Amino acid sequence: MQMTDSKPTNKQLDASWLTVRDRLRREIGNTTFERWIQSVAFEALRDTKVVLAVPTRFLCDWVAPRYGDRLRALWQNEVPTVRSIDFVVRSALSEPEEQPRGSQGSKMDGFVAEADGEDTTVIDGEVPNGGPFDGGDIGARLDRRYSFDNFVVGKPNEFAHAAARNVAESDIPPFNPLFIYGGVGLGKTHLMHAIGLRVREREPNRRVIYLSAEKFMYQFIRALRFKNIMGFKELFRSVDILLIDDVQFIGGKESTQEEFFHTFNALVDQNKQVVVSGDRSPADLEYMDERMRSRLSWGLVAEVHSTSYELRLGILQAKAEQLGATQVPPKVLEFLAHKITSNVRELEGALIRVIAHSNLVGRPMSLETTQEVLHDLLRANDRRVTIEEIQKRVSEYYNIKVAEMSSARRAQMVARPRQVAMYLAKQLTSRSLPEIGRKFGNRDHTTVMHAVKKVDQLRSSDAGFAEDVELLRRMLEA
Ligand code: ADP
Ligand code: MG
Repeated sequence: MQMTDSKPTNKQLDASWLTVRDRLRREIGNTTFERWIQSVAFEALRDTKVVLAVPTRFLCDWVAPRYGDRLRALWQNEVPTVRSIDFVVRSALSEPEEQPRGSQGSKMDGFVAEADGEDTTVIDGEVPNGGPFDGGDIGARLDRRYSFDNFVVGKPNEFAHAAARNVAESDIPPFNPLFIYGGVGLGKTHLMHAIGLRVREREPNRRVIYLSAEKFMYQFIRALRFKNIMGFKELFRSVDILLIDDVQFIGGKESTQEEFFHTFNALVDQNKQVVVSGDRSPADLEYMDERMRSRLSWGLVAEVHSTSYELRLGILQAKAEQLGATQVPPKVLEFLAHKITSNVRELEGALIRVIAHSNLVGRPMSLETTQEVLHDLLRANDRRVTIEEIQKRVSEYYNIKVAEMSSARRAQMVARPRQVAMYLAKQLTSRSLPEIGRKFGNRDHTTVMHAVKKVDQLRSSDAGFAEDVELLRRMLEA
């Protein structure tokens, strides 16, 4: 959306940011995008400067020199008055330095904007020895939107959710540590906050610290520099619940790892709850000391799996309701749940964009407008998996001939794999039902529809079957 003289509104800026992101995603590819740009958030437009927030210093150092220029150019395309990009290191969950982007906010702005400034201080104690810590800023603030109430539970996350709930409701750690892991944007941070919020609600006097592993490192290095290791130790060892997010960032730095290890042990020994999240399982934290890796898996390790269609739909329904957008047609939600499979953050972004567009142009939402608005995003989410590839993989997996995918045989040993392949074709490509049918020996679209239903049904009744399908999906997506 090209803007000229008048100052762009917040909604327009949000839309511009989405366009910028999508363009960049197309340029650098999904994987690189998810690794480096995904977590960058648009914060504000200040005169000619676009302020982008990056959750960690590490990411900032990586992103600014590599993508800064490109981001500026893409922004200029959207808002011609933009001259430069400012990167600030700020967790998406920490408090904004000033009131975020104007007060003309609709419900939607509240949704994209930061947590409001209500009293949400995480640590309630004094800093021992008046140490050189960033005051009450030792942990990040808990975002009230990231509550258990707002967390939609489905198969892929039910185990992690139950574990988190258990921790939040218990006085004595039921398992220590709780280690939650999974891919980007699948709700790990949300669950960590939910635990913190719930504990504080139940027992306001318990001391809760939530912070990223990166921030833990930063605080430690500061303590070293200011020769206040004692203060640091006391502070971290006096908490009742320590929530450390994105532990993979601790890797590499020996002294910090060491300190983290000691802090961790001290807390666990005192029967204080530790919750850790990471982007992979403890065993796969290859930069981490062997001792630490093993220690991290002593308690309970819970994976947040990538989302299923049902979960995505559930989340979209909940978000639409939260946004007060009751007029989103169910068809649109279903479409989004089918197409935006990467992660929940992206899913939310897509929904916001569709709603924003409809509000801006004053046209009701429909499948057509959705496809139009999300054109580029949909393409990015469209895995380049072909139906042929799916047929080949599925045949190999079930040890049947590829030709059976198009044959007329109805024996279960070929019919079932064929249904799985149709199901995966529906999930992983943007092909329509008739198109899929054609590729499977000119079958009717109702046959494909039936296959999709059947596979869904079997997935929920037969765990072994569900695993097969999941495995195939992963192989195809890799
Ligand atoms: P992660 O820490 O795993 O990268 P986040 O916890 O930051 O992911 O989640 C990304 C976004 O998706 C957040 O806005 C979060 O509220 C939302 N989200 C993720 N999973 C769910 C869920 N099951 N229900 C509701 N919102 C979710
Ligand atoms: Mg996170």
